[in-house]
Amino acid sequence: MATTYTEAIKIEKSESTKINTVDFNNLAFGQVFTDHMFVCDFEDGKWQTPKIVPYQPIVLDPSAKIFHYGQSIFEGMKAYKDADGSVFLFRPDENIKRMNISAKRLAMPEIPEAYFMNGLKELLKVEKDWIPTSEGSALYIRPFMLATGQGFHASPADAYKFVIAFAPSGPYFSGRVEVLIEEKYSRSANGGVGFAKAGGNYAGQFFPTQLAKDKGYQQVIWTDDNTHEYIEEAGAMNIFVRINDTLLTVPTSDRILDGITRKSIIDIAKADGIDVEVRKIKVTELTEAAENGSLKELFGAGTAAVVSPIAGFGYKGKNYELPVLEETFGARLKKRITDIQTNKSEDPFSWRVKVC
Ligand SMILES: *Cc1c(COP(=O)(O)O)cnc(C)c1O
Repeated sequence: MATTYTEAIKIEKSESTKINTVDFNNLAFGQVFTDHMFVCDFEDGKWQTPKIVPYQPIVLDPSAKIFHYGQSIFEGMKAYKDADGSVFLFRPDENIKRMNISAKRLAMPEIPEAYFMNGLKELLKVEKDWIPTSEGSALYIRPFMLATGQGFHASPADAYKFVIAFAPSGPYFSGRVEVLIEEKYSRSANGGVGFAKAGGNYAGQFFPTQLAKDKGYQQVIWTDDNTHEYIEEAGAMNIFVRINDTLLTVPTSDRILDGITRKSIIDIAKADGIDVEVRKIKVTELTEAAENGSLKELFGAGTAAVVSPIAGFGYKGKNYELPVLEETFGARLKKRITDIQTNKSEDPFSWRVKVC
């Protein structure tokens, strides 16, 4: 099946390449795009011929439903090239599964796994030279789907576009990150779309995040929408807490995105002999642990940064600083995971997928 499909991808090559204009030693995150993209349209109740075409604008009718009703979902993943030039993905089946969980929740058509995977692999073969190899760099992959169907009626569209675009990206330096624990706004609610990678979730985060930035914080720690007493996520990342030598993270739910980095960290930490607990965490547990010195680390986990350490947090007008440690669980787990991703170590979990 898979091969039949691969042969069916229509490839239209770009007449020129931008690759020589790119400074691969100074790549920002998601700002430079490769020469081609993968596109597949859903029309007349089915997915049409998948194509690889030159990277180009998407032209839509002003009544396209994406503009009015926000049917838009996406994924975030990375490809890595090792010293021998082999190309790898990290747990791509998890991204495909999650894309379709998001699609279902937003009443969008699910993408056959083979369409997603073969399209991605073929595009990677075309754009192989764009995969950066310097330490901490990778090819960021953005699969997304939007409602192209027309009409002002508030109902699901009858046409969609699935696209995969690539952005070579350098190491992610966040600098010193202080976060504000949110007491008023919510990222998501029970019965909502928080577990989906839906574009609107992020639009709703920008304003409260800007308010936190105005107060001198870089990011928001989201709390539960009902009581604001329990921590949920760190910006658009899952959250980890180290109290003494125990690593804690909160269970996923309707409101919390099931991050692939999160579950990989849990497995690696356990295999490394770290005591891991997955349970609800009260904000007061954090403030008390910060006060009695048992709070050692706080970090976000997601594909872009892998691990993003948090230096301190604000809550109810008070700031709490975390200790500066020589050796952190965060740095250790980040190295373990990136070594697997970039083929620098064994892959005991069989997470790495060789593309070419
Ligand atoms: C994408 C995302 C994450 C992290 O997921 P990964 O699969 O690890 O990249 C966590 N929280 C939110 C809200 C996200 O959108």
